[in-house]
Amino acid sequence: MSRQHRPFRINVGFIIGGQIGIARDFDFVCESLPLAPDLTIQQLRGLATVSRNPQGLLVQAHFQAQLQTACSRCLSTFPLALKWQFIETYVFPQKRKTPEELLVPMDGYIDLGDHVRDYALLAIPSRPLCSPECKGLCPVCGENRNQRECHHHSAPPEESSSPFASLKDWFES
Ligand SMILES: [Zn+2]
Ligand SMILES: [Zn+2]
Repeated sequence: MSRQHRPFRINVGFIIGGQIGIARDFDFVCESLPLAPDLTIQQLRGLATVSRNPQGLLVQAHFQAQLQTACSRCLSTFPLALKWQFIETYVFPQKRKTPEELLVPMDGYIDLGDHVRDYALLAIPSRPLCSPECKGLCPVCGENRNQRECHHHSAPPEESSSPFASLKDWFES
């Protein structure tokens, strides 16, 4: 299989055979990466540092990418910046303590693709915002308040929520 189809497959054979403590960085660049049938991230960049320790290999990776998505407040489409990282260990068969531990590969190649995709999915917020200050849509006319003021703004909720607010004004005047 070509590197095109498995962009996160790396040759770590020389690290497996190397001395304890050696490390090497692997760069990743991917213009688009499908995470699910209707979910593709763009402009992925990443770096994985693979080092040799007494048990096997330690992989420390961090990635960033963009996702075109809709703001949960104003519904506009915007490029959401994603960042995620993970640490994975691969142990020699004789060092393995539980069946869940990943084994150092016999062929010297590890494919980080599943980890990259799994952790990318976890990095996507359930309620993305185009900006922390997004004003959202007007509940009266539906206008995007980031683009235009529609003058449906009422007093802040904490002042207007009480039905006795106007009565209080009357007593105080
Ligand atoms: Zn928004
Ligand atoms: Zn309005």
